[in-house]
Amino acid sequence: MSAIQRIQNVDVAIVGGGIAGLWLLARLRERGYGALLVESERLGAGQTLCAQGIVHGGAKYSLHGQASRSAEAVAGMPALWRRCLRGEDAIDLRGARLLAEHQYLWATRAPTSRLAAFFASKLMRGHMAKVVNAGSADAVPAALRHPAFQGTVYRLDEPVLEVASVLSALAERYRDAIVRSQGPVVLKADGAITLHYSGCAPQVIRPAITVFTAGAGNVGLPWVAQQLRPLHMVLARGANLPGPLYAHCLGASDLPRLTVTSHCDLGGRLVWYLGGGLAEEGIKRDRLEQIRAARRELSVLLPWVDWNPVEFATFTIQRAEAHQSDGRRPTGPGVFRDGRVIVAWPTKLVLAPLLAEQIEKMLPSLGVRPRPVDLRMLADWPRPEIAAYPWDREDLEWS
Ligand SMILES: Cc1cc2nc3c(=O)[nH]c(=O)nc-3n(C[C@H](O)[C@H](O)[C@H](O)COP(=O)(O)OP(=O)(O)OC[C@H]3O[C@@H](n4cnc5c(N)ncnc54)[C@H](O)[C@@H]3O)c2cc1C
Repeated sequence: MSAIQRIQNVDVAIVGGGIAGLWLLARLRERGYGALLVESERLGAGQTLCAQGIVHGGAKYSLHGQASRSAEAVAGMPALWRRCLRGEDAIDLRGARLLAEHQYLWATRAPTSRLAAFFASKLMRGHMAKVVNAGSADAVPAALRHPAFQGTVYRLDEPVLEVASVLSALAERYRDAIVRSQGPVVLKADGAITLHYSGCAPQVIRPAITVFTAGAGNVGLPWVAQQLRPLHMVLARGANLPGPLYAHCLGASDLPRLTVTSHCDLGGRLVWYLGGGLAEEGIKRDRLEQIRAARRELSVLLPWVDWNPVEFATFTIQRAEAHQSDGRRPTGPGVFRDGRVIVAWPTKLVLAPLLAEQIEKMLPSLGVRPRPVDLRMLADWPRPEIAAYPWDREDLEWS
């Protein structure tokens, strides 16, 4: 192994390759900054590939009859993401795919559920349309098209992303600037970062600014105030699933009772990914209790489906966010600075563009200007792969 190498002129080192770090890298590189991203595992390995991929536009945050600050923060996101997907924005996501053009929202016959949908539809006028021609093939999702279905369905202007394809689109374009380091990246007191990889000579980077977009790994910085909010997510697969479904089912609270997205696993099987209230309340349940709760919920909501042959799996995951005194979800991205170190959480995947914009705006006042960086010394350095989706993980127990 040869001696330690030093890479010069790195304006911004980004630690963590989830959606926040990858989007920030793309934005800074587009603007000409010498930015570099370091990931200790695989891209998306934290929360990002566990996300349901919904590009929220605010409907979920308007269920109690008032446009919340969360709803305001996400209001422009569907339009922005669609522009990127069409290649009409500085961040070109033409290589990425949507799983669905629309997320749906369905109210059951319960008065509380119908009221929540009514309030949301008033606030989200123009972005949420009642599907009036229930029964027509193009309107109601196939999974809900059954004579026994008695709810009301709304179509939201909220697309659903194929998240891995978004990560690939971002990573491919800036591949020269994305490196893997074995073990969590640690910032030394003098601001240096050392990249390690077995068989490679360590490389030292001394960036002008370091940004931690490391999700739960942000807690490695001593001054960081982070909160973790757990979810107990459920996966369902089997030939009996009644087709793909992308929908929030409304209950009595200002949180959807159940949020369903649909995915295809590596074996080509349809998988329903279940979150919402089921996942929030499910943190009190062990795996088998959570599976029983999911079966119960699905049997009540879609009673015409035979759920017996459907297989279920669960896993828990922590949402990592900036600390809030009331412990609730922050309304927007969290960005904090201590000297030449910035730490950031997008709060939602969909808010990664806003987070990147906020960080870029901070740079001129910190004396950082765009300039070319020579990354040739990293040309042979190992690159992180894209992580697996939860439904493709080999350690999941299906029953
Ligand atoms: C179940 C679930 C469903 C969700 N659904 C949605 C949704 O539908 N829509 C939406 O907008 N949002 C959703 N979210 C929220 C969204 O997933 C997160 O806000 C977003 O993915 C956070 O991205 P991130 O890049 O900040 O962090 P992460 O995705 O957690 O990425 C952090 C990265 O940093 C790396 N890392 C950690 N420590 C270090 C270190 N010391 N050195 C180097 N690398 C390090 C990790 O390996 C990881 O790759 C959901 C979240 C969950 C948990």
